[in-house]
Amino acid sequence: GGFESLGLCEEVYRGVRHKGYRVPTPIQRKAMPLILAGLDVAAMARTGSGKTAAFLVPMLQRLRRRDPGAGIRALILSPTRDLATQTLKFTHQLGKFTDLKTGLIVGGGSMDSQFEVLADNPDIIIATPGRFVHILDMVDDLSLRSVEYVVFDEADSLFSLGFAEQLHKILHKLSDTRQTLLFSATMPQALAEFAKAGLRDPQVIRL
Ligand code: AMP
Repeated sequence: GGFESLGLCEEVYRGVRHKGYRVPTPIQRKAMPLILAGLDVAAMARTGSGKTAAFLVPMLQRLRRRDPGAGIRALILSPTRDLATQTLKFTHQLGKFTDLKTGLIVGGGSMDSQFEVLADNPDIIIATPGRFVHILDMVDDLSLRSVEYVVFDEADSLFSLGFAEQLHKILHKLSDTRQTLLFSATMPQALAEFAKAGLRDPQVIRL
């Protein structure tokens, strides 16, 4: 099964081709059909495996078009500003032929500029948990009930960097009907417990 067999819409398929991807990596081959089917997935995958596109391509396929009235529909949590920025770049490249809007909320940027990001009604938010929860605490009417697609990327790093409290806080604000994905190089105990609380009958992928 290559990218052409996934049933992607024209805009998303063109983005994949534009990025130069011709053959899916093993993690993409295993994860993308499950994610496209709407299932929760916990995947053991390292950086370099192609994990980012494994969750971005199905996300773009699911969201498809900008909907400024819908609220935040996809939320990607990254452990570091660098990873979040890299994921934003991939989202713009793979989503080049869609009109979806993505906002970045990370430590370091001014709070004002990040309120502006939210005021633009992005479809997708890519965030580091510390700054995102800080913003959540300040904006009373910022609901996460509209989020239908959540990714915990490099989840072992999210935990080792001390974001457990923020992650649980975010989890509690999400709707039960969301799709949840977790990507991690390792699965320590604290993370396994988090996955149990946050994912619904997850398909577990080990390469
Ligand atoms: P990641 O593991 O997501 O950080 O991706 C590692 C690198 O592999 C990045 O440079 C991606 O652009 C690249 N990559 C991901 N999927 C593919 C693919 N199917 N074909 C070629 N390169 C890819």
